[in-house]
Amino acid sequence: MMRRSRITTDVDFDRDGNQQGFLKLPHSIHRSAYGWIAIPIIVIRNGPGPTVLLTAGNHGDEYEGQLALIKLCREVTQEAVRGRLIILPAANYPAVIGGLRTSPIDDLNLNRSFPGDPDGRPTAAIAHYIESELLSIADFAIDLHSGGSSLMYLPSSLTAVVQDDQRATRQLDMLRAFAAPVGYIAFPGGEDRTMLAAANRAGVPAIGTELGGSGTASVQSVAIAERGVRRVLNHVGSLPGVDVSEELPPTRIMEVRGSDYYVYSPDYGMWEPLVDLGDDVHAGQSAAAVYCPRTPWREPVLAHFTESGTVICRRVPGLVERGDCLFHLATDRSS
Ligand code: ZN
Repeated sequence: MMRRSRITTDVDFDRDGNQQGFLKLPHSIHRSAYGWIAIPIIVIRNGPGPTVLLTAGNHGDEYEGQLALIKLCREVTQEAVRGRLIILPAANYPAVIGGLRTSPIDDLNLNRSFPGDPDGRPTAAIAHYIESELLSIADFAIDLHSGGSSLMYLPSSLTAVVQDDQRATRQLDMLRAFAAPVGYIAFPGGEDRTMLAAANRAGVPAIGTELGGSGTASVQSVAIAERGVRRVLNHVGSLPGVDVSEELPPTRIMEVRGSDYYVYSPDYGMWEPLVDLGDDVHAGQSAAAVYCPRTPWREPVLAHFTESGTVICRRVPGLVERGDCLFHLATDRSS
């Protein structure tokens, strides 16, 4: 039996209308004995129809999705909606305000905190609320991410592997509707502490994104985010008025089949990338050379790809520690 969340809210999920308010997460600290953390929430409901949960700011330093949802809640009218949209543009609010991947309050990563804990630290309490209170009333979910400060992606949407064939098909349809250049299926048996894993436990068809990164947003990546969210909302019946007549290149459906699709730095130092985003590489090919800035004449240590595929993600900062992720690949989906 799941324990009840301590988070309360001033929005009424069952009322028609366009409500803006806050989730109130009790946070008793030296500065504020009876205070709470105010996480913005928007609920737009208009009669019968699906409930879609839209989240961004799960990681605070990923801006494309946050911008897309801030703009969405300002632009979408109640009349345009069928059913209900639940929008959290700053899901891990302390991380968003800090401009950080993880919460500066507890150093926790929301997307490694599901199913969470109602009595735990703030990030765990947020995860618990999303899984127990929001996913439990959702029919569909979209969780918007990008590479954040340390990674850069080819603009991608993604889904988790799910055992239910019907839900897997729905998720693929959502990937295609989002119309990012790449849509990939994350590797099976991966993380079970993510929002997509939580959606899977709740039986909710869900997609995520990796829209760009580098701790900023671009014209292109925000446009893909905004267009993708509206197209998926149209696809599931929430926003029937969205014009989806624009002819877009089809999404390249890919897979990340396992942990060997990732390349990690074998040493500390300064890394030279030997390939770029979008390059096709083969197993055994050199991926990066890691030099020692303290002893410049020392031989660099090479990192290699252990699989063949397309580079869809790379590290951004120029300095590395041993174990930092430098690249990851995806391959075209085998049907
Ligand atoms: Zn993220």
